Amino acid sequence: MEVDCSSLWTDCLSIIRQQVDEQNFTTWFQPIKPLRADGDVLTIQVPSQFFYEWLEEHYVPVLKSAIHTVLGPTARLEYSVVVDSGNQKNPPLLVNYPNANGIKRSSMGSEGMENYSPFSLKALNPQQVNSRLNSSYTFDNFVEGDCNRLARSAGVAVAKKPGITSFNPLMLYGGVGVGKTHLVQAIGNEIKKSMPEKIVLYVDQNDFTSQFLNALQNHKLQEFQNFYLQVDLLILDDVQFLAGREKTQEMFFHIFNQLHQSGKQIIMTSDCPPRDLKGFQERLLSRFKWGLTADLQEPDFETKLAIIHRKMQSDGIAIPTDVAEYLALSVDTNLRDMEGVLNSLIFHATLLKKDIDLDLAKEVLKNIVKEIQSDVSVDFIQKTVADYFKVELESMKGKVKKREIVIPRQVAMYFCKRYTQLTLALIGENFGGRDHSTVIHALESVEDMMKTDANFKNSVEELTKKLKLRIAS
Ligand code: ADP
Ligand code: MG
Repeated sequence: MEVDCSSLWTDCLSIIRQQVDEQNFTTWFQPIKPLRADGDVLTIQVPSQFFYEWLEEHYVPVLKSAIHTVLGPTARLEYSVVVDSGNQKNPPLLVNYPNANGIKRSSMGSEGMENYSPFSLKALNPQQVNSRLNSSYTFDNFVEGDCNRLARSAGVAVAKKPGITSFNPLMLYGGVGVGKTHLVQAIGNEIKKSMPEKIVLYVDQNDFTSQFLNALQNHKLQEFQNFYLQVDLLILDDVQFLAGREKTQEMFFHIFNQLHQSGKQIIMTSDCPPRDLKGFQERLLSRFKWGLTADLQEPDFETKLAIIHRKMQSDGIAIPTDVAEYLALSVDTNLRDMEGVLNSLIFHATLLKKDIDLDLAKEVLKNIVKEIQSDVSVDFIQKTVADYFKVELESMKGKVKKREIVIPRQVAMYFCKRYTQLTLALIGENFGGRDHSTVIHALESVEDMMKTDANFKNSVEELTKKLKLRIAS
């Protein structure tokens, strides 16, 4: 029998309100939406997996007593967890969980869970597996700030109970140098230390792809799989570069499913949230969203200062406050560049026995900034090329077939191929949804014109300089 769930929930809320303080009430109970009441089951919708986990860990007694008071002693609660809030094309994805019953992973989207027929595994010895971790990345030297708090806490939770929390997979995303690699390696190092019997493996997308292609060529796929399927904690760094690599994705999909099904922990990083990843198979993307997705943001001034002090301290070098503040303010590209500046300062201080002062810091910074060359984005290439040829950005990305637009478009495609990691298909997508053969044609035309037209060649060279100088200028 359906009853009015919102009035029931309102009654529950007034009971809950008496038992939790105002702030927790606002944080954890107000966002809940009652969905339906059917018999003695009340279903509530919670905004995320994390939220669900939190309620289950902290508020089961409170929720139970409210439900029992309002709906009777046999009443139960069911959660509907918003796993993905959806977008214009896709409706939100919801997953239902019973309350206080532990988490039934198998109940969520078990469709498409391809099983491999069992094959004999040569057991690996955890001590002999090279985890590919850099032991200098630890939680201790990972400075906590507003910019990374959620990601860090999730990381700590996973390090304590790999595969057991609902943060599986744990997906961390954020821009360049915000500490993704540091954090995921810290998790790996921690688990290796506290659970030496576990097999931990860190790979970046590049390693994974080349190992896979290698195995494919040498008919060693089985061994490749056997190896990965024995890993207890798999860390895959920079998954965004798997974009467009269908075969590799396919393989990762199988490994992911197998590991996940057997309660192994998977951690991934990416430069954007899963919903914005382009060039991925939908079924793989939906798996990325099963666990917890947390972002790391650019560190604020205070966090940067703390990072500078921590780093210098660990190298046993004193850095005057004014220098630290100057660096925290001036190195505004990313933390990786900051690392370069600090290393250079340490070099000057230890080997050249110079005192670290503002003048030295300024000099070092000047030299480093010139060397900084980050990856160039598609947007930046498109904008630079459009500006250079004085055409409108939108028409360059659009359908116009006029020669004065087509040439800049082809040049922009050419630079995208040279300076980004995108596949031909993805480049085409960034230019009004053209296909990969159009992109190939563009690359060939540009090469041809460079051979035959000196002026054109000149333009391409000038643009090359502009793109390379991007940060230094
Ligand atoms: P990402 O993988 O996100 O591009 P990295 O993890 O490589 O970034 O971080 C870049 C540099 O900044 C590394 O040297 C890392 O140790 C340092 N770093 C980033 N975040 C922190 C932090 N919160 N505390 C200490 N060092 C940090
Ligand atoms: Mg990284």
